Amino acid sequence: MTRDTPPTMPTLPAELLARVQKIRQDFMAGLPNRLAQIRHAAETLEGLDGDDAATARADLARHAHSLAGSGATFGLPDLSVAARALEGVVNQTGAIAPPALRAAIDELEQAVPSTIPAASAAVLPIVPTPSTEAPCRAVYLLQADGAGAEDLADILAAYGYELSVFPDAPALAAAVAKAVPEAVILDVNPHDMVPGAAQVTDAKGRKIPAVALSSATGFAARLAAARAGCDAYVVKPPDANALVDHLDRLTERDPDQPLRILIVDDDATLGAYYEMALQSTGMHTRLVTDPLQAVEALYDHNADLMVTDLIMPQCTGFELASVLRQYDGLLALPIVFLTADLDAETYRSAVRTGVDAYLTKPVDLGDLSETVRARARRARQLKALMVRDGLTGAYNHPMIQDLLVTEVARAQRDGTELSFAMLDIDHFKKVNDRYGHGAGDRVIKGLSRLLQQRLRRSDMIGRYGGEEFAVLMPRTSPKDAADRLNVLRQQFSEIPYVHGDTQFQVTFSGGVVGLKPGLDAKALNLAADAALYRAKNAGRDRIELG
Ligand code: GH3
Ligand code: MG
Ligand code: MG
Repeated sequence: MTRDTPPTMPTLPAELLARVQKIRQDFMAGLPNRLAQIRHAAETLEGLDGDDAATARADLARHAHSLAGSGATFGLPDLSVAARALEGVVNQTGAIAPPALRAAIDELEQAVPSTIPAASAAVLPIVPTPSTEAPCRAVYLLQADGAGAEDLADILAAYGYELSVFPDAPALAAAVAKAVPEAVILDVNPHDMVPGAAQVTDAKGRKIPAVALSSATGFAARLAAARAGCDAYVVKPPDANALVDHLDRLTERDPDQPLRILIVDDDATLGAYYEMALQSTGMHTRLVTDPLQAVEALYDHNADLMVTDLIMPQCTGFELASVLRQYDGLLALPIVFLTADLDAETYRSAVRTGVDAYLTKPVDLGDLSETVRARARRARQLKALMVRDGLTGAYNHPMIQDLLVTEVARAQRDGTELSFAMLDIDHFKKVNDRYGHGAGDRVIKGLSRLLQQRLRRSDMIGRYGGEEFAVLMPRTSPKDAADRLNVLRQQFSEIPYVHGDTQFQVTFSGGVVGLKPGLDAKALNLAADAALYRAKNAGRDRIELG
């Protein structure tokens, strides 16, 4: 129940920092060549007039513009300033005085240091990378007598929370200082709490969510808990599901699967740098330097969001966005533009194209990461709403049917195993009749949550109908699937549901079948249903293998 060694705080992997430094060095190594090009373009310009002069001038402006946009990003802010000044000289109306041009280029060259500043961890916006396995979330319980903590710990563990118990406030504070939990539960008489007593904070002063656990049901106790700084209030004996609901809500975090981002920038070095920033906060990225490759890469990478440069040789970022909107599957894709100039015309184009966000170059990596995360996360949530059941968050009926068809085809093609299960809560009508539909809903949610927490990431869970669930288990034999579900059946039957003064327990039955040659999705479905029916007839609270 308690843990001996607290988890260590994540640190920036040295490897990531080394890659950042390498990209900076690449940028630095390319600078002499870019400066030579600028000097050459300026010298050419001096001997030209008419259209040729206009072309050379545009060329020079483009070089300066690109340096202004990237210098500061790689730790050279002076270079950005000097390049921006040069851009101003080149873009002035009327003729350019050669001495002014030469002076601006001299300034630019002087803005290049002899060595690139070392990248520090502060460059990258770090958050811990989510692990691929469902991680256990630490929750600390402050409880003087320790009574009942064992049961509570077992139930919370089933939902992925690891409970540690502390006998008094100093012990709790010492533990928080060592390792920050996701939430604290305070089993303390609220009337003994002074205002602010529940304001437990981490080293950076951020408040840790606090849940009050108390046998007092009155308003005064709730008020005292609220004044102390508690974010939720649960009456003892706690209904584990209500408690888990609060914990889930208070500790909401990123979706379990990393966000997937496509970056489009014709400057490979700069693109790689943006990739670093996003990867260091746990996102999965792909970079294309040719916008013409973007559509294929978006589908291939199954991207949640695209970050694109605005000015690129093949087409502009706005043009790329317009093309993307021609594909049904990309209509809702959020796009973040990176732009050096935010003049009135660019702004109008941005509005016309339906821009989701734009960031001005040189881009602050923290801003980039925050903007991308917020938009991509929201896009994920919206996508999920369309395929998920509102009460439980499991896939809805049409979606799990689609997935069944897809997975059957995949398993047949790859020659891998596939198991399919139908689960149905036993005598659920009685739960509704005795305890009301609210209690019934909590039981349905409880089963869904248990399945989502305890099955593998690759397994797919759907709410088939009222209190009926379907589970798809790729690369799993029917025997293994039945064993796994039997463990869950046992666990589920032990979870107490609290209703007023009474407690009740609920069971479920299941039918499991494996994919065999000649079976299609529909046949698999019918076979699982038949197995479930047998489990019900044989007395319920069991799993039948079809
Ligand atoms: P059995 O063991 O044979 O499965 O018996 P049962 O009572 O569970 O089966 P039955 O299918 O007859 O009843 C299911 C009940 O579930 C009927 C319906 O009113 C109720 N129900 C369906 N959807 C929901 C829901 O979303 N919330 C609640 N609270 N009840 C629901
Ligand atoms: Mg039922
Ligand atoms: Mg039913």
